[in-house]
Amino acid sequence: MVEQEFAARGIEGHTSAEVDKVGEDAVRYTDGTARPFDLLIAFPPYVAAVDHPDLPHDDRGFLRTLSATRQVQGHPQIYAPGDAGDFPVKQAFLAFLQADAVADHIDTVVALELPYRPSPFEPVSMCVTEMPDKATFAQVPLEETRDPALPVRASADAGDLYRVGTSPLWRLGKKALGVYLPVRFRAGRPFPGGRPWQAMQLALDGMCRTLATGPS
Ligand SMILES: Cc1cc2nc3c(=O)[nH]c(=O)nc-3n(C[C@H](O)[C@H](O)[C@H](O)COP(=O)(O)OP(=O)(O)OC[C@H]3O[C@@H](n4cnc5c(N)ncnc54)[C@H](O)[C@@H]3O)c2cc1C
Repeated sequence: MVEQEFAARGIEGHTSAEVDKVGEDAVRYTDGTARPFDLLIAFPPYVAAVDHPDLPHDDRGFLRTLSATRQVQGHPQIYAPGDAGDFPVKQAFLAFLQADAVADHIDTVVALELPYRPSPFEPVSMCVTEMPDKATFAQVPLEETRDPALPVRASADAGDLYRVGTSPLWRLGKKALGVYLPVRFRAGRPFPGGRPWQAMQLALDGMCRTLATGPS
């Protein structure tokens, strides 16, 4: 989908190109190639903002966790949902899902009278990338590979959950989420749950069916 959008705008994309060095007017890649630039816009490397030297962490400082519950490995009383943990993709929607898994796990640990309802973290990335005229929606179930070169990939058995699409209407979808989420958070409620979330899900589902497709 991104390749199509790039092609429509005359943008040449190169994936899997790992930067080795940035010079004054060219970037060199680990495969020996180089590309010149007039203006370079770059992401900083993903590294943890806060060090926790006494807790297990990966080489970027992210806390090593048990995938399903986001408990820090060897420290069952400490949770690391969101960017602080070692899930390879850092995204708000994934952070929400992890926070929910943590809350449910604390429920089962602290409020022992509750029936046990395991709801482990299942990584599904959902994002809307805005463009001036329209937006691209992507919902991608992910799986960790444990390969440092490619630590995460689209889940092989994603089925109907894998959806992408481009349309001006997705800008409305993003605005709807932008209204819904702050209302829930200000009310101290988790983002999924209740009638508003069911309505949001129905709307998203309807839009997915009409505006997005699975992988071709
Ligand atoms: C420029 C940018 C654009 C992004 N765009 C998107 C996007 O379009 N879609 C998307 O899904 N995600 C996006 N992300 C990623 C998303 O913002 C993060 O994945 C998400 O905010 C992670 O949530 P979190 O709660 O784990 O961490 P954070 O949102 O970083 O929250 C951590 C909080 O803890 C506070 N804190 C730190 N140390 C302490 C301390 N010692 N005591 C008290 N408080 C402390 C911090 O100030 C911060 O408020 C973007 C990120 C960036 C930087």
